[in-house]
Amino acid sequence: MASPKERGAKAGGLAVALREALNKRGGLWFGWSGETQVDPPSEPKVFRSGKVTYALQTLDPEDQRAHYAGYANGTLWPLCHYRLGLLNFRRTDWEGYRRVNATFARALMPLLKPDDIVWVHDYHFIPLASELRALGFEGRIGYFHHIPFPTPEVFLTLPSHAALVRDLSRYDLVGLQTEHDVRALLTYVSSEARGWIAPGGVVGLRDRRFRIATYPIGIDADAFVHDAEAAAGSEEEERLKASLAGRALAVGVDRLDYSKGLPNKFAAFGELLKSHPERRSTVTMMQVAPLSRSEVTEYQALRRELEELAGAINGEYAEFDWVPLRYLNRPFQRATLAAIYRTARLGVVTPLRDGMNLVAKEYVAAQNPEDPGVLVLSRFAGAADELSGSVIVNPYDVEGMADALNSALSMTLGERKDRWRANMEKVTRNTIHRWCETFITDLSGVDGYGAGVEPARSLPAPKKATRGRN
Ligand code: ADP
Repeated sequence: MASPKERGAKAGGLAVALREALNKRGGLWFGWSGETQVDPPSEPKVFRSGKVTYALQTLDPEDQRAHYAGYANGTLWPLCHYRLGLLNFRRTDWEGYRRVNATFARALMPLLKPDDIVWVHDYHFIPLASELRALGFEGRIGYFHHIPFPTPEVFLTLPSHAALVRDLSRYDLVGLQTEHDVRALLTYVSSEARGWIAPGGVVGLRDRRFRIATYPIGIDADAFVHDAEAAAGSEEEERLKASLAGRALAVGVDRLDYSKGLPNKFAAFGELLKSHPERRSTVTMMQVAPLSRSEVTEYQALRRELEELAGAINGEYAEFDWVPLRYLNRPFQRATLAAIYRTARLGVVTPLRDGMNLVAKEYVAAQNPEDPGVLVLSRFAGAADELSGSVIVNPYDVEGMADALNSALSMTLGERKDRWRANMEKVTRNTIHRWCETFITDLSGVDGYGAGVEPARSLPAPKKATRGRN
């Protein structure tokens, strides 16, 4: 979870929405302080700002490594992104992951009131509810999984799969990004965990009853539209346009992560220039890819691979006045990103697998309604479920992607507008604010759990339950 110190473009989305929700109701923001220390204090640093109390916990360096680079990003991240070849499972990492969750629970517990509701974010903290329950917390706890949830065939490769699903059952509400993710988890529950499933995603597992539902995350659409409009005619936009010298711009903005399909995207752009030579010197691709998790070996290898690929494409096709692929490993302010998105004729978002992908939504929000660009989007991004106006591609099909880029570049203004309107309608409807409100409302039970079902509390299985095998 982002800390209150977080700045820059990333703080524009999730962190701001959650902070807004907390500011409205008042509440406690609990997370890692970003610091490690041998024998760290068992109590978090607590301070107040407005209606919000912040509590930040420092971790032991070895625990932090085992938790973050080890189990969370060396095991769960590749697993949930269907990259079994990159999955490293070590018992010591698993133990460190659980230890950090136990440490967090012990530090958080004294700060909780019995009727508080707790919202836990992401795969780093799946066991937090189990640990809080073990310490006696009986209030509502919700969990949102920001990344994909894998199908059972993939999930079963994880040695700790059963323990993790038991951990999920300690929540009252488990939120996932897409229907596909919900189906994957429900299938596991019914076919592997001997659970039962009732209407509305209510699930029973052993002595627990909880709900699994879809909450597609969105962006702060109004803020993005505002930034993009402010970018029109700005000095940065003018500089960018001048540098393009009338050429079309195709843009990609992704953390440097193997889930983002960057080598395939580069290869597709190279293939476009090879198989559609008339496109040479008419289109420039800009890939913004800030470095991420550089302490994990796989990320270092990916960085080298991309540098090689970018060099090869530019070496092969560049002219003295045209560099086909601009590759930038740096972050930008949100206003600059908005200017880049708005200038780009194509937004190229082609992850091999992605929970949602907010860049896709930001690209849509930043477009000029009178002359919108086209979103080329991987079918394996959660956003593809909503953004049906995109050109949907399979990122494993490099030649297919090159053809898709070619036809998107030729699209008429009328078609671009139709596609953009369809996408923009979704982006403005399912905003980050709506996502936040809906989850909190469902969790706090204001409207009850879905179809009038009561919240989970160690209830017996209903008679007409669907039972799994075994
Ligand atoms: P992930 O959460 O896996 O990184 P998303 O696409 O869902 O992927 O979210 C990425 C967020 O990070 C977006 O809000 C995007 O604007 C931001 N971002 C990505 N690259 C940069 C960059 N170079 N500078 C600033 N913000 C960036």
